[in-house]
Amino acid sequence: MKPIEEIKPLLETPKKVVITMHQKPDADAMGSSLAMYHYLIQKGHQVTVISPTNFPDFLKWMPAADQVIDYESSTDRALQALEGIDLLFCLDFNAFYRTKNLAPHLEKLNCIRILIDHHLEPQPDFEYGISDTSASSTAQLVYETIYKLGDEHYINMEIAQCIYAGTVTDTGSFRFASTTAAVHRMVADLMDRGLKHEVIHQAIYDNFLENRLRFLGHSLLNRMEVFYEYNTAMLAIPYTDLKRFDLQTGDTEGLVNFLLSIQGIKLAALIIDRNSEVKLSFRSKGNFDVNAFARKYFDGGGHFNASGGRSTDSLEKTAERFIKAIEENEALLQ
Ligand code: 5GP
Ligand code: MN
Repeated sequence: MKPIEEIKPLLETPKKVVITMHQKPDADAMGSSLAMYHYLIQKGHQVTVISPTNFPDFLKWMPAADQVIDYESSTDRALQALEGIDLLFCLDFNAFYRTKNLAPHLEKLNCIRILIDHHLEPQPDFEYGISDTSASSTAQLVYETIYKLGDEHYINMEIAQCIYAGTVTDTGSFRFASTTAAVHRMVADLMDRGLKHEVIHQAIYDNFLENRLRFLGHSLLNRMEVFYEYNTAMLAIPYTDLKRFDLQTGDTEGLVNFLLSIQGIKLAALIIDRNSEVKLSFRSKGNFDVNAFARKYFDGGGHFNASGGRSTDSLEKTAERFIKAIEENEALLQ
């Protein structure tokens, strides 16, 4: 893969561009994609952002979020936008299967593929890009890319807001180890450009409905299990709970982190029956590698301390498999 700055000549003449991200995008996937969108349109390109699926309501405030095509609900429009494109930007994911049903369409495109991502073990399918697993967020990599291309004068308020949103969420509000001095310098730069950070925090974190909080209480009270001998906590959520509390896309985001706040807990797992499949989210503290864990047991991956996976077994069977897996990893969890 050639370094990202080598795309500079490609951007000198107007191009037809699609930017896409992983399914069920979070604030980093959406924020980095929309930041890139606001940059590329200023450069005179024809740009469409496609999300493989719908996305949470708490991201709809993002500038130009209303322009994003949801492949699942607007398949024809999405496929039309992909026709004859010159450049495909893949943001915040590095393996095509993460774009779900959009994947086969992306794989057969005859265009230049560009990766901007911070997950481990990228697929070798990209001509240009940056894959930096030490980066706090893909949003930070978009910011750095704009600088590398000598285009920092294009960083306007839309871009600043999108980059901040991706970074604040992926760093757990600037608490994870990935929050380097460079991250703080970037935020200072965005604030110098006029960014109002408290507005973004409120838009992301103070925008839920009552039912989401009641679901949280119900889950922590009734669905949590703690395995002190393995320093592990698990939350297994049946599909009936999702229905009962009328949960929407994004409402379970951040739930897994509560488990890690229990003293001594090193591994947290959130297992949710989404009806079509069972999705797993893993978080760890310290030296337990949940990327390797998710890859080995649950057909997934991600980062060293945050990863996800999936299972086609029932919720109960998946939870049993998880417990067996932590037993196998007992030594690593001490
Ligand atoms: P989350 O638990 O928030 O869904 O995901 C945690 C991290 O793992 C995110 O960076 C996400 O992109 C990644 N991730 C989640 N599910 C999967 C998966 O099935 N495969 C891979 N490779 N990464 C995943
Ligand atoms: Mn990310």
